[in-house]
Amino acid sequence: GNFVPPVKSNGNNVGNMSSRNSGKCDDVLDDSTKRCLEMLCGPDGELPEKLRNLEPRLIEHVSNEIMNRDPNVRWDDIAGLEHAKKCVTEMVIWPLLRPDIFKGCRSPGRGLLLFGPPGTGKTMIGKAIAGEAKATFFYISASSLTSKWIGEGEKLVRALFGVASCRQPAVIFVDEIDSLLSQRKSEGEHESSRRLKTQFLIEMEGFDSGSEQILLIGATNRPQELDEAARRRLTKRLYIPLPSSEARAWIVRNLLEKDGLFKLSNEEIDTICNLTEGYSGSDMKNLVKDASMGPLREALRQGIEITKLKKEDMRPVNLQDFETALQEVRPSVSSNELGTYDEWNKQFGSLS
Ligand code: ADP
Repeated sequence: GNFVPPVKSNGNNVGNMSSRNSGKCDDVLDDSTKRCLEMLCGPDGELPEKLRNLEPRLIEHVSNEIMNRDPNVRWDDIAGLEHAKKCVTEMVIWPLLRPDIFKGCRSPGRGLLLFGPPGTGKTMIGKAIAGEAKATFFYISASSLTSKWIGEGEKLVRALFGVASCRQPAVIFVDEIDSLLSQRKSEGEHESSRRLKTQFLIEMEGFDSGSEQILLIGATNRPQELDEAARRRLTKRLYIPLPSSEARAWIVRNLLEKDGLFKLSNEEIDTICNLTEGYSGSDMKNLVKDASMGPLREALRQGIEITKLKKEDMRPVNLQDFETALQEVRPSVSSNELGTYDEWNKQFGSLS
């Protein structure tokens, strides 16, 4: 339901196209697939060249499951990471907004790698880029290509890049990109995953050299597994670290304020920040969720029935709730792992 068709198509060509290219009869395509293909037709009512030899069901899967026209995240939703926001704005948002200025010497790289511990906002940044640059957002987890789409991954990758090129400007976000572009395990590597990787690199090469308005963002928690070919294509490599103390305070405040539950003093917030050194953004979110259950649990302990409980009967979330939640929600990233990211950042990261 997210589509805005570029033009109204008479639909005839979609039927012709599918029968010509997939060898299936027109009536094999169900209505939703036909509708989806119609929406991708150009002003002449024809399916763009790039999509003609692709299987309609894969185009439909990309359009319905992978594409997201309004990712609904803005810079202001992301705590901290000022350095990454600044780099990304200059490197990818401005070029997507003003392709006429960013050409020649100023032409941007087409590949960006966001690396760092899990739950630090890499996916949020991808979505915010698409939102701020008014681009169509495509999200795919690379591990699903290798696990769920066994044997079909290559075709799905072609469909993904094909649909993206019809929906420019576009941002393709590939989560866990290491599982797709990992260093060759020479003999151990399966033929199918080698083909998938090759196809992916070919597609990247294709839009890198052209004038297409497509940006590929890869995210990984294991940058050290990427091979040299992948690194070369992901020209900017930004470290997305654990949130600073200020960013953690912001997450706590922001989440509680959204629900009207914020009543902590500055000193209490400081205490929470001191106790959460090493927590990721997503750990902080889990902590706030757990702490916000404190007042509810207490009210129930006092014998109030859940069905009769009024919101006014519950006290605000307090420091004690956080201290209790801290027993349950532990940091998910170890300090050993952090060392690995620092090392890789020194060696391959983009510092500016
Ligand atoms: P990653 O892609 O790095 O694994 P995500 O972007 O999916 O992490 O973040 C997971 C969740 O954690 C987000 O939905 C958000 O609620 C929270 N989160 C993580 N980092 C931040 C941040 N910097 N600011 C605000 N929320 C964050």
